[in-house]
Amino acid sequence: VVEVRNVRKTYGDRVVLDDVSLTVETGDVVCLIGSSGSGKSTLLRCLDLLEDVDDGVIEFEGREISDPLVDPREVRRSIGLVFQAYNLFPHLSVLANCTLAPRKVHGVSKAEAEATATGLLERFGLGEHLHKHPDRLSGGQQQRAALVRALCTSPRLLLLDEITAALDPELVGDVLDIVRDLAEGGTTMVLATHEMVFARDIATRVCFLDGGRIVESGPPEQVLVAPEQARTREFLRRVL
Ligand code: ATP
Ligand code: MG
Repeated sequence: VVEVRNVRKTYGDRVVLDDVSLTVETGDVVCLIGSSGSGKSTLLRCLDLLEDVDDGVIEFEGREISDPLVDPREVRRSIGLVFQAYNLFPHLSVLANCTLAPRKVHGVSKAEAEATATGLLERFGLGEHLHKHPDRLSGGQQQRAALVRALCTSPRLLLLDEITAALDPELVGDVLDIVRDLAEGGTTMVLATHEMVFARDIATRVCFLDGGRIVESGPPEQVLVAPEQARTREFLRRVL
């Protein structure tokens, strides 16, 4: 689905992504791990074309989307992105949040968009909150709603950036359960996470970033349990 080749990204004279290459196949769940500032969010933002790259190529479904002539809005129709802090529209109900993009961007009818959103919200335990505004929901419920909103456009790639980082520990599980559910259902995902146990549980592949480089990449039982690189071992010793 995604092919990242030799991507380099700088801010001023600071190199934030350095020769990053990554292949994501259909159904893959790629977990990006690494310390703060290692470039995880930047890589996700490059994949969603929120940042342009200085060098290298990003392909999505065989098309070179890092080409400056490509319209990012069009690419983003097929990609779902959820950030750390739930970014629901505060003035819209949960249901209206979830039907906005399908209706306005994808041209789905109101009835169809509401049927899809209601089904997904019910599936993820938000059935009784459809008509509430986000500020009436707990942080975990808001983040689940943000996930559902991303799913309502049937993205072919889901990018999740530390979606549990802003949550109280007891709310983390509910949100991770949804991600696990999606992973088991074959949703292609790239996610940045600090939840190592979770990464080990759901990842098909783990990429360890350090200083903007992918230092080590492989199945979770290799990278998280028997890492080959000293830097990966040192990182895991600090976080586990
Ligand atoms: P965290 O785990 O804290 O979320 P991260 O791995 O997601 O960290 P990034 O947010 O990708 O790290 O940041 C990588 C580097 O890029 C950092 O050194 C950061 O300071 C720098 N950076 C990020 N965004 C910008 C920006 N808009 N302008 C300048 N520097 C930036
Ligand atoms: Mg980040």
